[in-house]
Amino acid sequence: MASAFKRLPLAEQQALMSRIVARCKATDSNPQKPPVVVFDLDGTLMDNRPRTLAILQELAHELKEEAHSAAGVFAAAQAEHLAYLLGDTLQKLGVDHPELAARAEAFWKTRFFSDAYLKHDVAVHGSVEFARACYEAGASLVYFTGRDLPLMGIGSFQSLRDLGYPIGVVGTELVCKPDAKIPDELFKRTEGPKLNRVGRVVAAFDNEPANCNAFLEMNPDAEIVFVDTQHLPGAPPLDPRVHIVSDFRMR
Ligand SMILES: [Mg+2]
Repeated sequence: MASAFKRLPLAEQQALMSRIVARCKATDSNPQKPPVVVFDLDGTLMDNRPRTLAILQELAHELKEEAHSAAGVFAAAQAEHLAYLLGDTLQKLGVDHPELAARAEAFWKTRFFSDAYLKHDVAVHGSVEFARACYEAGASLVYFTGRDLPLMGIGSFQSLRDLGYPIGVVGTELVCKPDAKIPDELFKRTEGPKLNRVGRVVAAFDNEPANCNAFLEMNPDAEIVFVDTQHLPGAPPLDPRVHIVSDFRMR
């Protein structure tokens, strides 16, 4: 995928990932503050586009039952049609009838932000191996997501487990928003400083420039990594000290 960001060449990405794993080895100098690695979920560890595709297929099926003329348009949707916002995706698909667009948006929203559909997400290349390497080296892992606990908490835990990330074991935790209405960046800025209850953050990964900038302010000595997948349109410029990678490959 074309990107406006200057990603690290693969060799430098591999070196960065190895450096972070090395920083996950707990040192005796500060046993009270064990190393912590922070991961966002959507667009960082996981590609959620298959979730949207599954929902659009379900909508296509429903429209087909009604003999609706737009059924085929949704059935033909592919990953490359998907924009960050569903409204932009619908435009790309050529869905311009306002009533149908509103129906699709509502259909998508109730399903996308729910436990039952998280099983469609797939791991970003190398992310399971990398998370395991950090954990095995001695770091605690915090999955710090903008997903909300009431609607998506259980499905997120299940998805982390099923994809093979360390979860449900000592030194791992899943942190969700208490309420879906809280904006993601505000949530991460408010809760981020509390991560020092777990230990000292040595690295944080996110696919939103705003969140990466916030992590850098909170943890100036940590490696902050922007995973260049998809992000909210209109994002602020990324702090030049943030590393840019396309995935988590270590070799
Ligand atoms: Mg994200």
